[in-house]
Amino acid sequence: MSKYVYFFGGGKAEGRADMKNLLGGKGANLAEMTNIGLPVPAGFTLTTEVCTYYYAHDRSYPPELKQQVNEALKKTEEVMGAKFGDPKNPLLVSCRSGARVSMPGMMDTVLNIGLNEATLRGLIEKTGNERFGWDSYRRFVQMYGDVVLGLKPQEKTEVDPFEKIMEELKHAKKVKLDTELTTDDLKELVKRFKKAAKERTGKDFPDDVHEQMWQAIGAVFGSWMNDRAVVYRRQYSFPHEWGTAANICSMVFGNMGDDCCTGVAFTRDPATGDRVFYGEYLINAQGEDVVAGIRTPKKIAELQKDMPPVYKQLDEVRNILEQHYRDVQDIEFTVQKGKLWMLQTRNGKRTGFAAVRFAVDMVHEGLITKEEALSASRIPPDDLNQLLQPIFDPEAKRKAVKEGKLLAKGINAGPGAATGRIKFHADDAEEWVHKHKGTPDGHVILVRRETSPEDIRGMQAADGILTAFGGASSHAALVSRQMGKVCIVGCGALNIDYTKGTVIVGEKVLKDGDWISIDGFTGDVIAGQVASKPSEVVQVLIDKTMKPEQSKVYQQFAVLMSWADSVRKLKVRTNADKPDQAAQAMAFGAEGIGLCRTEHMFFDHIKEMREMILAEKPEDRKRALAKLLPFQRQDFYGIFKAMKGHPVTIRTLDPPLHEFLPHEDEGQEEMAKEIGVSKQKIADRVKSLHEFNPMLGFRGCRLGIVYPEITEMQARAIFEAACDLAKEGSKVEPEVMIPLVGFLPELKAQAKLIHDTAQKVFAEKKIVIPYLVGTMIELPRAAVTADQIAQEAQFFSFGTNDLTQTTLGMSRDDYGSFIRVYLEKDVVPRDPFQSIDVDGVGGLMKLGVERGRATRPELKVGICGEHGGDPDTVKFCHKIGLSYVSCSPFRVPIARLAGAQAALGK
Ligand code: PEP
Ligand code: MG
Repeated sequence: MSKYVYFFGGGKAEGRADMKNLLGGKGANLAEMTNIGLPVPAGFTLTTEVCTYYYAHDRSYPPELKQQVNEALKKTEEVMGAKFGDPKNPLLVSCRSGARVSMPGMMDTVLNIGLNEATLRGLIEKTGNERFGWDSYRRFVQMYGDVVLGLKPQEKTEVDPFEKIMEELKHAKKVKLDTELTTDDLKELVKRFKKAAKERTGKDFPDDVHEQMWQAIGAVFGSWMNDRAVVYRRQYSFPHEWGTAANICSMVFGNMGDDCCTGVAFTRDPATGDRVFYGEYLINAQGEDVVAGIRTPKKIAELQKDMPPVYKQLDEVRNILEQHYRDVQDIEFTVQKGKLWMLQTRNGKRTGFAAVRFAVDMVHEGLITKEEALSASRIPPDDLNQLLQPIFDPEAKRKAVKEGKLLAKGINAGPGAATGRIKFHADDAEEWVHKHKGTPDGHVILVRRETSPEDIRGMQAADGILTAFGGASSHAALVSRQMGKVCIVGCGALNIDYTKGTVIVGEKVLKDGDWISIDGFTGDVIAGQVASKPSEVVQVLIDKTMKPEQSKVYQQFAVLMSWADSVRKLKVRTNADKPDQAAQAMAFGAEGIGLCRTEHMFFDHIKEMREMILAEKPEDRKRALAKLLPFQRQDFYGIFKAMKGHPVTIRTLDPPLHEFLPHEDEGQEEMAKEIGVSKQKIADRVKSLHEFNPMLGFRGCRLGIVYPEITEMQARAIFEAACDLAKEGSKVEPEVMIPLVGFLPELKAQAKLIHDTAQKVFAEKKIVIPYLVGTMIELPRAAVTADQIAQEAQFFSFGTNDLTQTTLGMSRDDYGSFIRVYLEKDVVPRDPFQSIDVDGVGGLMKLGVERGRATRPELKVGICGEHGGDPDTVKFCHKIGLSYVSCSPFRVPIARLAGAQAALGK
């Protein structure tokens, strides 16, 4: 018989921390905390297998489940000394979701299950606290009504139906806080809540406690497939097949009076990485009050004053948990009548800044090894991005503040600087960004009273998130931090009116669409746009406006990078076309240039380029090319110099030629005058070069085959520059790369031109330098015939932009029209132009490497498509034995870390 239910309680648990796949993170850690002797209320976990069964069997349960649940419930009752549904001594339970990875707020939870009029009386008698009883009951009806019965707002401007009833009553009673409501008020609330539920569902609110529990379990499993959970999994590439576990836990109460509280905390500051106990709590409240952001909670340090012995114990638990899990923990706790109970622990979500700091500090504290510090679960490589992101230019910010634009200050929950247009609703934010993406207008700050999991898409689209309520562990804060978004929460001065679409701060009124700037480092909210400036790491490495010793963030970054480099096998190069880009990438740790696109250089010399394109006879073309030669030589010289002897891969010309010619009448006329030819001639040439899909047309080596003079000129420029530099005593290592090769003879013809030119230049300059001639592998034919291609090619570099386009038959120019739908419908797990399609394109790459090395065992193989900076692709490249990846300069640190993780198998 399969085991579907795992019990924990009374110091012993059937599960363990390493059983997350089966018990979910919450269940596994409740079991682990129980086993290490921490105070955990007894309960049991229904495994993720129940959830997968539920979906595979038309939302029904395995037949043996009921009995296993009953047995576990019995054990729970024994440990807690109370009975579920008993009118004298009732046990209440919660039903909480928990997948193998944490998905904060994405799925459902129901608290206080087991209450009806009879058990309520028992609860009141047992506790002697009538107000508490009714408070718990109204919470239960409200939560059950929302989660199980589906009483939610139906329009985006509509307030939650329960909130509405509550607000009406508070208004009538002239009170502000929930805690000011009297017992009679709470009784009234329950009555009204139940009435609302009956109006919506047509049924009486259920009194049967077992029905309540099973319905809640169904709702939790059902919430695995709700929209926000699905979107969340898609964003982080978690499979839908995993399923969630459901945890039934005995209730303990933080709302029994002023000697009770409930809170959430991190064992260190998850925003900055500081080693301070960081969290918040609310006296006389239940858990959801803290996270929902309705009341602004107190800082954890204040607990030292409010409840000294509890604080001491909690601080001890903090240490025990960090030592045990060897990572920063995010905990939930409740204090019931002075007794501490632990309700959850998990590895804390952290910003990129905090991730680096935790990792480096914990190695120095001797808690973890360097290898552990580098693991992807501690530092997802993309999070390093946050350390490279701009900050507000202090001058510009000071000026804005002086001009009176500082609106308010909130809690700095997600570091960084963001400026954008105000949007109050998630779907408006999403729509706006979708419409204006890539333009200066395409930036949005999502401004809300508080966020809820429904807002996930809008949060994803926004540059920053600003909320009026909630603390550092509110939904907005947690989710932004994980997404690496700039975030400010709990900015109480904001008066937001959704219906009018305004936010008022004192005298100032800002409307939907107005600009606003938020500083996630300090919590400052500023009206209008504020100019930003480079991050500290960039200031130290690139701009040299800061010294390493002035920046702690830089120092930690540098230490981490040095550890990454010490284990990494894969080299990291950069795609750069200009000396300054090359220098930037070197500063970020690039070990060479993997792709220099020479067509980008021609844009600076468009007139000569146009002459070359218009030339009808080879002599004319040669004349135009001769004008381009010195420019090219100079560009190459600059790049070789910047790269200080590191290898530089230069690709011969690969543009659709018509891109260089004007398409409008006006432009053609101007060009005709400038070059001294008829306008008609230009128009004819434009017409003859026109292609329906230029990405699959007259480009790549096809140009060099048809116009060999072009390749010759480029080769001459490369070797002349290299020889000049070598004569000055510098080391140079050019690698000439031929694009879009599909047939061996194409490569042979181009390679011959290059070798011949090299010999000529060496003879003229009286110096010989080492060089290679290789090819891009960016057509399926090249991958499949890589054994033949390698007869000539001295290196390969996968051009995965074109290889993806040609393998998938998706044009890289217009796949955007359908890819969103493909992602929504899970046709593809990731955008295949961002992260390698492992089975298809990846399969061809693997074949290309194997066949290429079958001919030439030492063959150097790299990747230079956009994918080269994607951590998952980097790991795949390591796996199939590539020599290097090449990516844009700002992604070099990310690729270095991903390369290290690949080498460590993490
Ligand atoms: C590629 O195709 O992956 C590549 C690097 O070349 P380009 O993007 O210039 O076509
Ligand atoms: Mg290409």
